[in-house]
Amino acid sequence: MDYPMTQTIRTVALVAHDNCKQALIQWVANNRQYLQGCELITTGTTGRLLSEHTQLPVTRLNSGPLGGDQQIGARIAEGRVDLLIFFWDPLEPMSHDPDIKALLRIATLWNIPFACNESSADFIIQSPCFQSYQRREPDFSVYEQRKV
Ligand code: PGA
Repeated sequence: MDYPMTQTIRTVALVAHDNCKQALIQWVANNRQYLQGCELITTGTTGRLLSEHTQLPVTRLNSGPLGGDQQIGARIAEGRVDLLIFFWDPLEPMSHDPDIKALLRIATLWNIPFACNESSADFIIQSPCFQSYQRREPDFSVYEQRKV
C-alpha cells in the first residue's frame, strides 16, 4: 500500500461492540477522507459491517469474543498498529471482558493513540498529529534486563 510521505497514522485498528457498531460505521463514513489512505484492521463482525456499509477495504481478524481483540493486541505489541479506535460498550458485561481490558492495557503500554468514544476519535482524526507525529516508542530495556 502506498502512503502519503508525511502521514504518520498508517494502520488503524477499528473495533466496536454490538450496541456501538452503528456509531462506528457512521464515524468511519464521516471520516472516510482521512481513513481511505490507511490500512484498516478490524475484529470480525465490525469489519464485515464496515465493508458492507462503507466499501472500504478492511483486514478482518477473528470476532472479538473469538480472539480478535487479542489479535489486535498482538499487532500493537509488534509495532504494527498506529491508532486504535475502540467503541466498547460501558453498559454491557461481555464474555471476553479480560480480552478487552488486555487490549486497552497493551495500547496504553505501547503508547498507541486510542479513542474509546466518538468525541475522542474526532479529536484524534482531526488533529494535525494524525498527519504528522513522532510517537515515542517506549524503551523497556531496563525492565527486560531487570534482575530476578
Ligand atoms: P466483533 O468483535 O467485531 O467481532 O463484534 C468486537 C468485540 O467484541 O471486541
